[in-house]
Amino acid sequence: MDARERALRQAYDHALRWLADLPDRQVPARASVDDIVRALGADLPEAPSAPADVVDLLATACEPGLTAFPSGRFYGFVVGGTEPAALAADWLVSAWDQNCVMRTVSPAYAAAEEIASTWLLDLLGLPRDSAVGFTTGATMANFTCLAAGRDTVLRRAGRDPARDGLAGGPAVRVVVGEGRHTAVDVALRYLGLGAPDIVPADDQGRIRPDALRRTLAGGGGGPVIVVLQAGEIHSGAFDPFDEAIRAARDAVAWVHVDGAFGLWAAASPAYARLTAGCAAADSWATDAHKTLNVPYDCGLAVVREPSALRASMGLHGDYLIQHEHGDPSDKVPELSRRGRAFTVWAVLRSLGRSGVADLVDRLCRHASAFATGIAAIDGATVLNDVEFTQVCASFGSDSRTERVLTRLLDDGTAWISGSTWHGRRVMRISVSNWSTTDDDVARTLTAIQRAAAGA
Ligand SMILES: *Cc1c(COP(=O)(O)O)cnc(C)c1O
Repeated sequence: MDARERALRQAYDHALRWLADLPDRQVPARASVDDIVRALGADLPEAPSAPADVVDLLATACEPGLTAFPSGRFYGFVVGGTEPAALAADWLVSAWDQNCVMRTVSPAYAAAEEIASTWLLDLLGLPRDSAVGFTTGATMANFTCLAAGRDTVLRRAGRDPARDGLAGGPAVRVVVGEGRHTAVDVALRYLGLGAPDIVPADDQGRIRPDALRRTLAGGGGGPVIVVLQAGEIHSGAFDPFDEAIRAARDAVAWVHVDGAFGLWAAASPAYARLTAGCAAADSWATDAHKTLNVPYDCGLAVVREPSALRASMGLHGDYLIQHEHGDPSDKVPELSRRGRAFTVWAVLRSLGRSGVADLVDRLCRHASAFATGIAAIDGATVLNDVEFTQVCASFGSDSRTERVLTRLLDDGTAWISGSTWHGRRVMRISVSNWSTTDDDVARTLTAIQRAAAGA
């Protein structure tokens, strides 16, 4: 066995052990950053070490400081775990080490990206000729789509943004709902568009179409982008797309939808109604590393008009080998990058249409079991309409909710974080992991009951 093979076998053994321990492992990390720094050793080694020894040290030293994100009882943020086919494919992606910039140089990557893109558009119910860019996550997918939107509305106003930049041109107005994710704001900042105009939302965080129409009417007719949302981070709610998009169209706006986790509702016949009308937008950002459960990092930027995306993201280099049909790099900000579409292809090939629908249905079923279970706890109230994968609950006063959260994390059965919603401290549960079972939900509810009983 050579050094590389020994290192890979070491990594394989550690990975299998980590995954096998997940069902019984305590979910929160047990060690602090300082503990892990000490265990890894802070000093730069003067001499080389055998790769297998390095992998062994990494795995052994880091283990206590790992949070069991892939556990079926991790309900933080909106992040999923990793489907088996996606994880295995991701190992191959690293071994293959394809630089996925150019179609001609990695035909295999270009083929996988092409197939995965077609399948994604089909599952998400989006226009079939849209361009799909594989980004690092939804933040960059929002950035990518909004860049295409910004440049398109400026071109409509007679500008050439690629040549002229933003200075001296008309201001691009961006209108968002109050409940949008902060990733949208940061994308706008990267794009030089500044802070957006904010439209009030209803109690579940859905943009109010009447208020959107009024805000747009006060705009003076310049270039405008409207950002809508599929899946609000606290309630899971979806904007009323039909009405909101009609209002945006009347203002000749570019319409973008941030559907980082929620856009996947479209893949389930039982939940597709939540995204009704959403396909009439111009661009959509979503993640594959959330609801679809592929490993980090993988987001998806979908733009209805491929030429708009290429105009903003495409590049030219004399040393590159560029294809007349366009290259994967024409659709994303990065040039060199890993083969993310191989992983997406693998999970879609593994699940098939019915498997993706079952995944979405299962996450929603677990969320609704959480809502029922928590509502039965003394003093607890579920604050949102649980129509997708998110549950927000209060345990009475803010201080009691905080105590329940602290006791729950100390207990270690599950990982659930707090948040502030409508001015109240809440327990925020996001069911996003493919591997969560009924038993995980039952064990977690028991742990929440225990935490609440003493708080
Ligand atoms: C997670 C999330 C984002 C940001 O996505 P990343 O993949 O973390 O960059 C944006 N919008 C919404 C609604 C999200 O849930």
